[in-house]
Amino acid sequence: MPEIRTRFAPSPSGFLHIGGARTALFNYLLARNLGGKFVLRIEDTDRERSTPESIQAILDSMEWLELAWDEGPFYQSERSAEYQPYVQRMLDSGAAYRCTCTPEQVDAMRKEAKAAGRRPGYNGSCRNRTDIAATDPHVVRFRTPDDGQTGVKDLIRGGVLFENTEFDDFVICRTDGTPTYNFVVVVDDAEMRITHVVRGEDHLSNTPKQILMYHALDLSVPEFAHVPLILGTDGSRLSKRHGATGVTAYRDMGYLPDAMNNYLARLGWSHGDQEIFSRAELIEHFSLDHVGSSAGVFDPEKLEWVNFQHLKELPSSTLASEVKPLIEERQWPLPGDDGWLAKAVATVQERAKTLVELVNSIKYYFVDEIEFDPKAVAKHLAKARPALLTDLADQLAGVEDWSEPNIEDVFQYVLTKHELKLGKLAQPVRVALTGGSVSPGIFEMAAVLGKDRVLARLQAAIPLAEGTD
Ligand code: GLU
Repeated sequence: MPEIRTRFAPSPSGFLHIGGARTALFNYLLARNLGGKFVLRIEDTDRERSTPESIQAILDSMEWLELAWDEGPFYQSERSAEYQPYVQRMLDSGAAYRCTCTPEQVDAMRKEAKAAGRRPGYNGSCRNRTDIAATDPHVVRFRTPDDGQTGVKDLIRGGVLFENTEFDDFVICRTDGTPTYNFVVVVDDAEMRITHVVRGEDHLSNTPKQILMYHALDLSVPEFAHVPLILGTDGSRLSKRHGATGVTAYRDMGYLPDAMNNYLARLGWSHGDQEIFSRAELIEHFSLDHVGSSAGVFDPEKLEWVNFQHLKELPSSTLASEVKPLIEERQWPLPGDDGWLAKAVATVQERAKTLVELVNSIKYYFVDEIEFDPKAVAKHLAKARPALLTDLADQLAGVEDWSEPNIEDVFQYVLTKHELKLGKLAQPVRVALTGGSVSPGIFEMAAVLGKDRVLARLQAAIPLAEGTD
């Protein structure tokens, strides 16, 4: 068995979108599952569209998703010397030929064929010429068979047959000497000893042409797997209308890379009815056998749910390190060490769907200037009796070991003394400590905040309490 080798071969013309990320992921998972190698190849031959920024965006996205490649990145723009000998081989064997037809002439041929009801394309007029010198301006065309069929054995969709008459003699090398996409892909995949080409369905129609070239060059043909498209929830092809389509936008919105991978993997692949997978489980179970041939629908709500499932399972110390950069970004002070931060985030770990939502819900742990929600103040804090809050503050001031159970004991004592139900005390206190009426459990939150800050906030809130009964 030769070593399994997969590759991701993006053309850098923008950010890495959801579909590209899924293709990268499938290649990564297949290589990992089969103990093979995953190669990254940047197809940057289109000089106008390939910018350094978009190359960087692809690398950043892959790093964020932790889709570690074993070889590369290789850049096609740096490999031009590799391609010329293959062009020459094809010329020598007669599999390709020089053509001096101008673009205008080829255009006229297309129109003529169309008018005559034939498939528009190049008419082969230079096919049998022997008078074209290497120094004459020319393109090189591949000689496609005049009849027969080319079959693509696709690991996802089964056998697909193409009539060879569908293909005209396509250009493999332009007048300026640059090779074209289909040809370069064949040379690169062969040279990089790729055994499995997993890519988007939009490339299926290129595959028979590539197979013909593999045969012409006497190279072994890799396995192909064309992954179906991704659609938006309305059934149309995924686009900006459906929300962010660039992978890094999800990083910025506070998604976890493994949640993203989990969601992307399930967009087209299944393993029984399991929905939540760790990276290790994805690697263990992934196989092309269970990639479906129908389009996947990108559902942001499901992605959010998957993220929530991953978030709540994270060890709190890991969650703390994910959250820390977001706190720094917001320039909030950090009143405790990493251990404290882990305790703080643990109080809301099951309450947020994204890291951003989580961080934004706990500003009060970091910033002492409380932003009061006027509605919460009016509904809860203003209705509390100042004496009640003063009593609570006095009792809390006496707590020596500031722990959740001790805080709870004080609350119970004050509630009994004033003959109140917990809500009557907890809600005003919650508003006093956080500014709003929603927070984690009052005792655990107060324990995380610390005694001094709790007392200061209670004292500051007492003037807002105007209750009389
Ligand atoms: N560079 C092509 C693209 O980004 C992919 C080529 C391939 O996978 O064969 O669409």
